[in-house]
This record gives sequence, C-alpha cells and structure tokens, in this order.
Amino acid sequence: MKVYKFGGASVRSAEGIRNIVKIVSTINDNLFIVVSAMGKTTNAMEVVLDLFMKADHQGALTKLTEVEAYHEAIISELFLTPESGRSSVEPLFSELKKYITEGVGDDYDSWYDRLVSYGELISTKIVSAYLLESGINNMWLNMRELIVTDSNFREANVRMNDSQVRLQKAVDFSKSRIYIGQGFIGANVKGDPTTLGREGSDYTAAVVGNLLDAESVTIWKDVPGILNADPRLFENTVHIPELTYLDAVELAYSGAQIIHPKTIKPLENKHIPLYVRPFGSPDEDGSVIKAVTEKPIEVPVLILRKNQVLITIRPRDFSFVLEESLSKAFAVMNKHRLKVALIQSSAISISVCVDNSRYLAGALDELGNDFKVTYNDGLELLTIRGINDEIVQKTTSGRTILLTQRTRRSGRYLMKEL
Ligand code: ASP
Ligand code: MG
Repeated sequence: MKVYKFGGASVRSAEGIRNIVKIVSTINDNLFIVVSAMGKTTNAMEVVLDLFMKADHQGALTKLTEVEAYHEAIISELFLTPESGRSSVEPLFSELKKYITEGVGDDYDSWYDRLVSYGELISTKIVSAYLLESGINNMWLNMRELIVTDSNFREANVRMNDSQVRLQKAVDFSKSRIYIGQGFIGANVKGDPTTLGREGSDYTAAVVGNLLDAESVTIWKDVPGILNADPRLFENTVHIPELTYLDAVELAYSGAQIIHPKTIKPLENKHIPLYVRPFGSPDEDGSVIKAVTEKPIEVPVLILRKNQVLITIRPRDFSFVLEESLSKAFAVMNKHRLKVALIQSSAISISVCVDNSRYLAGALDELGNDFKVTYNDGLELLTIRGINDEIVQKTTSGRTILLTQRTRRSGRYLMKEL
C-alpha cells in the first residue's frame, strides 16, 4: 500500500480537490490518503479559538461563519449535487457551534486541540464525499479514534503501539481500496482530542506509513520537489532529486519548511522512501528521501529560520555552566516547549537560539530564578550546508551578525532580521 498526503494548499480550492481526484484515479494500489485542513483554515480556527478563550462567544461564532462560508463556496463549486457535500460537514459545524456557545474556555492548549482540529475533520469529509461523487469508493476514518497520543496538547506525541492496534483493525484493504483520514489530529487514551503541532500532517502520513508498512509515502506539495533553498527567499535555486534521511533531518531541523521535522523518524525506522512531488505537475518526479542515495548533494543548501530569539544565561553564583547548570537550563526550556535551534557555551554562560513563541515569556521567567538572563529577539538563523566563502559573502554581507558557528562543511549565522 501507499500513503498520499495532500496539504492545505492542495485542498484550498475546488480546483485543487479536482486535481486530487485526477491524481488518485491514475493509481491502482491500495491507498491511504492523509489530508490537511483547507487553505488557511487552521489559522482561521486559531482566531476562533482566541475569541472563544476571551469569552467572546459572539465574536468566535462570527469568525466561524466565515470559515463555514469558505467551505460552502468550495462545496457549491465542486459538487454536482452540493447537498451531499453540505450534509457531510453540517454535523461538524453544529458540534463546533455548540462547543463555542456552551463551552467554558479554561485550559488553552486542550481547547485548541478540541476546536482547531475540526479543520481536518471538515476537509476530509468534503474530499471523501467528492471522491465518492466522482466514482471513487473510499472509507472515511476518524483519526481521533485511531491515532493515540500522550496528553501533550498542541504538540502531542504518537503512541505507536496503541495506534498500530487500532489502525490495523480499522484498515482492511479487502473491504475498501482507499481510506482517507485527517493529518495533524489524534486523541489521548481518554479520548480527549490532541494535535501534533503546526504542519503536523506530514508527521501523520509518516506514522501511518510506518504502522501499515507502506511501500512509500508521498507528500504532494505546491513546489517542484526539494530545492537547495526557498525560492521566495533566495535566487537561482536548484532542484535536489535525492536526499538521505540524515540530510532531510538536518534540513528540517535547520528550519527548511519543506517537511515537518518529526516526519523522518517513522520512515527511517522502516526504510520507507518519502517522495515530495509537485501537486500541479503529477508527471514530474519531484524528490525522494531514502536511506542511501547515489547522488550526493553538490550545491550549497541554504535554510533560513525566521523569528528567532537569542537567549544568554549565566548562573547567578558564578558556577561553571557546563558542569552544573546545563541540565537544569535545558529542563526548563523543554518544559516550556522552546525549540532550540543552536547552542553555544563559554565557561560561565550558555547562549541558545530558540523559536519565538507564546511560551517564551514563561520560560524566561523561570530561567530567571537561577540565572541572569538576557535576550534579543527579531533575529533569523541562516544555515549553509556545503559552505564556501562566496556564498557566505553573498548571503551575509552588510548584515548584523550576533553569533557565528562554522565547521568544515557548514556555517550558521544568527542575524538581525532585515
Ligand atoms: N492544518 C495544520 C496546520 O496548518 C496541519 C498541517 O497543515 O499539516 O498546521
Ligand atoms: Mg496546513
């Protein structure tokens, strides 16, 4: 069997969903389709959530009406009989309205997962109904019942063994050749909804591939495959046809937006190849990530991680930071879910570069108990793999650099945002 994942950009319009039908109808393999929320729905649902948490129930309902209208427009353009599309999502919108009207926003993170996850429930209902209308039989699955996670709301970790038992029971290709389920969402053992972190649908696809022993996982994206740099940020980008799992992990960790950083592990563990293919040109090959490649990457790879903060901490009692304080500092950062992108240390201080997030203030506060803390925000981290002086000159000249790390093969530059 194969896993196909379609992201938000692929399903943002009626035209995109028609293209899914076109892609799916060309293959005869057993197929598990993972779909994200449509277009910018997740962002819109975050706004609904914020209003709800401020007890602005009316504001939240008004914003939800926009989300509903967006989906309704797609449905009425897409279906020959729009009623079948509408009836598939109406119960979901009713549930949402009931939560928003009657719910009391106590814990932000668990309410996030309860409400925001509807984006995926809705998109998969529409895609499933449209496949059916197009003559492609398929079974819709509720991944909240199949992907079992811990209770780390908004960034939940999948419990592979529990999920495997449930998923293998639910998926029987002798009953249906095609299954369709939501990316990004799951539930803890009690059944409380969870999400796997923003852009987590790739991770779902990888988990499903692992648990069902897929022969391959394909992420259909609105790019020609993996490039050596983001074409929106750098000129003259080059296509990279093959990468190793190790390359891919390094790129994802450095901030390449191409795949979610957690995606590689479940695939590497079973040596399942990951294809990244252009949604708009399904005849092109795209890129493949696998264990061994015959073609080493020959061009410098540039990755820009934006919205970074440099935190420097120093033990108040002048103790040596690496010996005595390192584990304490990282425990605090881990507890507050800071994503550390770079570490540098001296005898009595550690500097880390982390993603700016809503958890930052809490972390800085707690670090302040034991450390003298200073920080700078508004930074971006440029990672260059396959470094040479010319490329450094081109990408960093005239920039204010706060911190540099350089090895033989790569360089990292933490700079003020332009
Ligand atoms: N819809 C979720 C998000 O936008 C998950 C995903 O797209 O992968 O973050
Ligand atoms: Mg998305």
